[in-house]
Formats: sequence, structure tokens, C-alpha cells
Amino acid sequence: MVSRVIPVETFDLVIFGGTGDLARRKILPGLFRRFRAGQMPAQSRIIGAARSELDTAGYRQMIADAVAEFGGDESNDKKSLQDFLDRLDYVTIDAKGEGGWATLAGLVRQDVVQAFYFSVAPSLFGDLAERLHTHKIANAKSRIVVEKPFGRDLETARALNQTLATHFHESQIYRIDHYLGKETVQNLMAVRFGNVLFEPLWNNHYVDHIQITVAETVGVGGRGAYYDKSGAMRDMVQNHLMQLLCLIAMEPPSQFGADEVRDEKLKVIRALEPVEPHHIVRGQYDATTDEPSYRNDAENPRSFTESFIAMKCHIANWRWAGVPFYLRTGKRMKARSSEIAVVFKDLGHSIFDDDQARHRNILSIRLQPNEGMDLQVTIKEPGPGGMRLIDVPLDMTFAEALGDDAEDVTDAYERLIMDVIRGNQTLFMRGDEVEAAWGWTDPLIVGWEARNDVPKLYDAGSAGPEDAMMLLHRDNRKWRDIKV
Ligand code: NAD
Repeated sequence: MVSRVIPVETFDLVIFGGTGDLARRKILPGLFRRFRAGQMPAQSRIIGAARSELDTAGYRQMIADAVAEFGGDESNDKKSLQDFLDRLDYVTIDAKGEGGWATLAGLVRQDVVQAFYFSVAPSLFGDLAERLHTHKIANAKSRIVVEKPFGRDLETARALNQTLATHFHESQIYRIDHYLGKETVQNLMAVRFGNVLFEPLWNNHYVDHIQITVAETVGVGGRGAYYDKSGAMRDMVQNHLMQLLCLIAMEPPSQFGADEVRDEKLKVIRALEPVEPHHIVRGQYDATTDEPSYRNDAENPRSFTESFIAMKCHIANWRWAGVPFYLRTGKRMKARSSEIAVVFKDLGHSIFDDDQARHRNILSIRLQPNEGMDLQVTIKEPGPGGMRLIDVPLDMTFAEALGDDAEDVTDAYERLIMDVIRGNQTLFMRGDEVEAAWGWTDPLIVGWEARNDVPKLYDAGSAGPEDAMMLLHRDNRKWRDIKV
């Protein structure tokens, strides 16, 4: 296979929180993969900066262990791993004090691309941004990468935006939502805007409804206390599901540029109607014989926080008027599966005896597992016996369709970090988008808190509470099966 990897410019990437879970599990194994693929120029450097008292040798060992644990087969390439580790430095730093900053200032070069990944609690963002300037480390071209959660409501998101804006221009701020880095998500845009087939049908004349499901099998154990202050709405809907909704629903941007795409996404959020309380179903997973309940995991026997949410939303614009968007996400569900399904309308008239209403075109976009798409089409069942119709998928599973080239499919974090180095903000959330998203979710959360809404219990390993099924049944529709 001919490699199409184009090296980025030489960079210094500082990872604040470089010893943390995210850095060890995602960021550094991802960077190693890019290094192996030849995308990281030889002179580039990665500097871990965190509170732990470590020297560079100790940090390299920590990252070697992390790559071995989370890096897959790639970690067997010992020679590349050693070359990669040689590019790592470490500084013990205190985000809230002065310790370590002079050392960092001595390490970061001013004549290469500078990126600072804030992989720390959001409460430290302001301290980091300020010290990067007082110690004259950052410059007008530096980029900062910030992680979710970006606030817990509109007020806190606004405050965070203002803090960052004191020190960095919006064009320097990369708010990461790793869902946007997924190959399939970008392919969704390629399929929509690169083919003549879909765009003419992408509206309320032909689309019956759209479903977005992000189902996880894990519970909240381990981070239950944190999660209990958040819940599925804040943790998943406000960011990941809304971003997917925006990409599905947005108008074609005039070009695939950062502001053109983000302007269109923002318009979708602003056109979202408030959701009626009876169009929201909140749930909490129950205990099984082997596994604790949500309330046990959250260590809060009276918790009203949802580990599952399903809702019906409407976008008030010409394209989507009357088309419901059903969103659903939850923990401890029957399978780990994320999918967007565009369900097209019935034919107006069938010339076949077969019950045409049973057959529908469905475009399914799978984010995990087996990233890919399939289009359900109706054909004649082979063989004699008359004109019987069956539905078959036109499968576009990347691994099958692209063969060896599918190996090029990068993990979301790798792609997004390379985009930061390239200075491409298209797949990152803009400040006004994040605020608009909170502006839509805040009243819904305030509403159920005021009503003391108690989440419905659901069986772990199920598709969520019965009420979620009813949400679609009442509309004469049904959820897609959650399956691997
Ligand atoms: P973590 O608790 O594992 O690591 C925190 C890191 O911050 C450590 O390296 C620690 O040394 C450093 N740190 C803490 N206080 C510091 C200080 N005063 N000065 C300097 N460094 C300090 O956290 P994590 O799971 O790696 O998460 C990091 C950020 O990423 C958080 O904002 C989290 O919400 C977000 N995030 C994490 C994940 C994930 O999968 N872990 C996913 C999405 C978002």
C-alpha cells in the first residue's frame, strides 16, 4: 500500500496532565501511531507536564508501559517505540503555583508550531492559560486544546470561554469532541456532500425520522461520584449527540472550512425547539445479581441523576419541519454500539402485492463498532415464487470495502491532534456553539430538577426503560435494535 501520510510541520506539544488517564490511554498511544506512520517530523517533541515528581527517564518508562497496555500491536515495534520515547520530555509543574514554569519556558521553542493540550480538570484552564503568558511561553500563534466537560451549564461555559479569551484568540482554541474525529463522522459529510444521490432526499419530503443512539455496556463504577453530578444529558447529549445531530441536519456549507461548517452547525442548534417534558425519558440502571445498581456505583442511594436518556427533538426550519430526531444514550445497555439511522419514508404507492410499508430505505451510519455505513434497500427475493420483496444492506463497512487501506483509519484522538498541528479547526467546537448547546439543554435540566423527576429503572443489559420504547411506539415507530 502506498502511504498517503503527509508529515505535519515540526511541533512542540506540551501535554498538561501528561501522566493522567486520558494522556496514557489515548493521547500518547495515538501520537505513537502517528509517529510510526511517519507523520511526526523528526525534530518534533512532546513534553509531558504534570504534578507527579518524575524525571524524563521515569516519564518515558510510564509512556512505554502505557503504549504497551493501550497501544495494540503497534507497541511490539520496539525500535520505533524507542525512537518515539526519545522525543519525550517531562516537567514537574504546578498549574496553580510557579514550580516548573521556568523549566518549561526553557524547553518550548518559539520557532516551531506550539500546541498546549489541557488534559486536566477545567478548573485549571485559567491558571494554565495565564501562566503560559506570564512566563512568555505561548505566543500569538500557539494553539491550546481543551477537553470536555466544557462547563456544566451555560453560565460556567461562558465563564470558561471568557477566561480562555483573556489569553487566547478563538482561532487558537481547539475544543475537542472526539466524536468529530471519527472516520465515519467525516465520511458522513463526504457521503452527503460528495454524492448526488443523498442530498436531494435529505429533507422532510423523503426522511421519515432520524435516530441517534450511543449505547455503552459499561456502568459508571470508578467515576460514579463525578458522573452523579453530571448525568447522561450533560455527559453525552450536550456534546457528542448534539454534534452528530448538527452534522446530520446542517445545511451544506459553502466550503469545507472551519467557520463555514461551524456556522451551519450553530444554525441547527439555534433552530432546535424546546423539548416537551413528556418527550424526554430518563433512566437509571438497576442492579443485577453480579453487578451493582447505578445508585450503588454513584454512592448516592437517593440519586436522581440519569444514566440513560431518550428524547424526541424537532428542528424548526424548512428542511426538517415535522421530522422527529430521536436521541438515545445510556450506560449498561445490551451492546456497545453507536449509530445514526436516517429512516426514509414509505413509498407513496406500491405496485407489488407485498406489504410495501414493511420495507424502508434506511441509511445507517455506524460509529462503533465496525465503523462504516449501510444502506438498506428493497429487492426481489431470489428464486421462483412470485414477486416477494426483501430488504438487504448495501454494506460499506470500511474494513471490508477498503481492504488494506482501512488500516489508514486513524483513531479520533490521533486525527484531531494532527489537525491541531495543521491549524485546522473544522472538527473542533467553537465557543458560540458550545454556549448555544448549553442554552438548549439548560432549561430541560432545570425543568426536570424543578419537577423532582425520578429516573425510571431499567435492567442492565437492556435497551433502556420501557418508557423509551413507548416514546416511539406512540408515534408508530420503533427504535433500531442495539447490536454489535
Ligand atoms: P486524571 O485525574 O487521570 O489526570 C489529571 C492530570 O492532571 C494528572 O496528570 C495530574 O498530575 C494533573 N494535575 C492535576 N492537578 C494539577 C496541578 N495543580 N498542576 C499540574 N498538573 C495537575 O484525569 P484524566 O482522566 O486524564 O482527565 C483529564 C481531563 O480530560 C479532564 O478534564 C477530564 O474531564 C477530561 N477527559 C478525560 C477523559 C478520559 O477518558 N479520561 C475523557 C474525556 C475527557
